[in-house]
Amino acid sequence: MNVLVINCGSSSLKYQLINSESEEVLAKGLCERIGIEGSAITHQPAGGAKVKTEVDMPNHTVAVQLVIDKLTDAEVGVIKSLNEIDAVGHRIVHGGEKFATSVVLNDEVLKTIEECNDLAPLHNPANLIGINSCKEIMPGVPMVGVFDTAFHQTMPKKAYLYGLPLSYYEKYKVRRYGFHGTSHDFVSKRAAQILGKDIKDLKIIVCHLGNGASVSAVKNGESVDTSMGLTPLEGLIMGTRSGDLDPAIITFLAGKEGISAEKVINICNKKSGVLGLSDGLSSDFRDLAEAAAEGNETAKDALDAYAYRVGKYIGAYAAAMNGVDAIVFTAGAGENNAEVRALIGQYIGFLGTNIDAEKNKLRGEEVILSDADAKVATMVIPTNEELAIARETVRLV
Ligand code: AMP
Repeated sequence: MNVLVINCGSSSLKYQLINSESEEVLAKGLCERIGIEGSAITHQPAGGAKVKTEVDMPNHTVAVQLVIDKLTDAEVGVIKSLNEIDAVGHRIVHGGEKFATSVVLNDEVLKTIEECNDLAPLHNPANLIGINSCKEIMPGVPMVGVFDTAFHQTMPKKAYLYGLPLSYYEKYKVRRYGFHGTSHDFVSKRAAQILGKDIKDLKIIVCHLGNGASVSAVKNGESVDTSMGLTPLEGLIMGTRSGDLDPAIITFLAGKEGISAEKVINICNKKSGVLGLSDGLSSDFRDLAEAAAEGNETAKDALDAYAYRVGKYIGAYAAAMNGVDAIVFTAGAGENNAEVRALIGQYIGFLGTNIDAEKNKLRGEEVILSDADAKVATMVIPTNEELAIARETVRLV
């Protein structure tokens, strides 16, 4: 069975065509900087070279069409027609409390997902665009949704309840959900494998550092806390999201600027994070690391604030689990950005991470950054949400 996995993020779209029997990736690719100047699609058929095409990608619909064109392309494609795609697995960000596991997508499910749009304004609409474009082009092909929120359903009440009147949880389900669950699940399991230990005996902190970013505490294989909340806005400073704020700032700014609270939240989602802190320079960590290396103080301050927040969360989760055996960096910046990892490394040395500066220069590969004597194994593990989604898709269809 060939499963097309679509992972539509806020500024990126990853895709893989996976043969489910062999788990071989037939082709994969990445649309980068969607909605940002300098967008490009990189497509790679199995055993072939990466072909990067710089092309204007103003939105996700254009990106999905480009993916389909590449897969069926006479030169770099791997299938003759869309008939060779047996199922599509979609990463979906917010399932609320309605979806605690993956589901086959039908009209009713799509309606429920749409109802969750306001909870994940950067992602759920992008996910739905991906689903609807695929439905249009491949009518009749079964599709499955795999939710980012599902893995964190094991969080205890003390972690998921906000310090608000309980009635708001009871009436509206206002609580912390957490996101990037497929990644935190996959990466924590892989960390246990690499360490040759049973995940049931481990306390692992996973730092998923992409354009969107979250940290999770995984104790004995279960998520016991994570930095994102009701929406993906809480927690770390991200590419364009503010992360944790004093909630009073929302109405304070609305009053000062003469804008609605909704508009302020929109600014917190789309214009904040390292983009906002760098005074609009970039939401991309490559651009910021480059600017910082050239002496740009604003870019340096943005990266410092970013790394400091990650360091604080790691410290908090070591306390939450009463210890930590492994810390894992994953996703775009966590896997590739040595500068960002080095900055975070400054705050977590007290745990006994002993990060080797030479090993930390490696990009995009599985590596234990700590030396052999380290108390806490600090690692880079490329996430593979696509494989996890393909497995779920096959399980359900
Ligand atoms: P994601 O949302 O997981 O796609 O991650 C996007 C972030 O990863 C962006 O801020 C990129 O700057 C960063 N990133 C991706 N590839 C690289 C790379 N080769 N070197 C440094 N940073 C990278």
